[in-house]
Amino acid sequence: MKIAPVEQLFTLFNETALVLQEELSCTYLEALAETGENLFHGSILQEEVSEITEKRLNKQYKEINLDNFTKEEIRKAYQLVILKGMKENVQPNHQMTPDSVGMLISYLVDKFMAQSSFRLLDPAIGTGNLVTTVLNQLQKNVQSIGIDIDDLLIKLAYVNANLQEHPIELFNQDSLEPLFIDPVDAVIADLPVGYYPNDVRALDYKLKAEKGHSYAHHLFMEQSVRHTKSGGYLFFIIPNGLFESDQAHQLRDFFKEEVIIQGVLQLPISMFKNKNAAKSILILQKKGEGIAAPKQALLANLPSLSSAVEMDNILKKIDKWFQDNKR
Ligand code: SAM
Repeated sequence: MKIAPVEQLFTLFNETALVLQEELSCTYLEALAETGENLFHGSILQEEVSEITEKRLNKQYKEINLDNFTKEEIRKAYQLVILKGMKENVQPNHQMTPDSVGMLISYLVDKFMAQSSFRLLDPAIGTGNLVTTVLNQLQKNVQSIGIDIDDLLIKLAYVNANLQEHPIELFNQDSLEPLFIDPVDAVIADLPVGYYPNDVRALDYKLKAEKGHSYAHHLFMEQSVRHTKSGGYLFFIIPNGLFESDQAHQLRDFFKEEVIIQGVLQLPISMFKNKNAAKSILILQKKGEGIAAPKQALLANLPSLSSAVEMDNILKKIDKWFQDNKR
């Protein structure tokens, strides 16, 4: 029986990561980044491994030729092994963006970004799953930049990008510190939600809390707007209660001044552990000369993303909104 490509790659990543985990006495996810690098470079990069292990790994790597796999097959297999590793221990704020949400964001980015070439930033790139989902769906020339504070996640993103042959420029830093990047045309981000511990850094933001800690997700949006060109679009995965928090009035004022709300799509509650953890996709456009608000913002409650019929209806609704508001 022929083994499915994703399963074949999953097995390779998983088995070689387990070997390296044991040999290097590290976590599964660290070992996964190492095996991914080996596979990409076509050699064993870890000096600590024994000769026997080296032979065993080389044999396994040689059985696979990455050129025979599509980018999506590589992304999916890598996503599955990361999910396995994340089961061990991961904070909710570090979780990968699920495929269904990534696909929807890809669809939206494609619709809103009319140009055939543009610059894209993900200031919370994590494992790179969201960005590469988008890159794999778009038939456009996209120069991408990713930032993350977590050195393991960004290493996974770097390996992910290499294996899928996406030249993403990566920065391992706090995205709320100054960023040395040229302005971008679009931002996508599955925002880390919660308090930002660095009150001194927060002083640099209009959205700093009037007292106490500021919300990281608010500051992330301000930082993203700052680095977006006028007329550029921003696609954020936000908590549903964004406009109901104690600091929401500041956010509303900031939005009024700097952006146009193009749409809010509420993700199905069934995707989340409970109602309080549920999220939406917020679509913003940075204000500028000649940039007009839509007659009406795109508002929708998304049905179960696994129901093809219901999804089709929603996509038709979005298409209709584009015809009425964007042509
Ligand atoms: N889209 C990502 C993916 O597909 O893997 C997942 C993003 S995850 C929900 C949020 C990310 O924000 C985490 O990777 C976390 O490390 C990062 N993060 C949190 N605070 C940050 C900060 N101050 N600067 C940069 N990244 C930060």
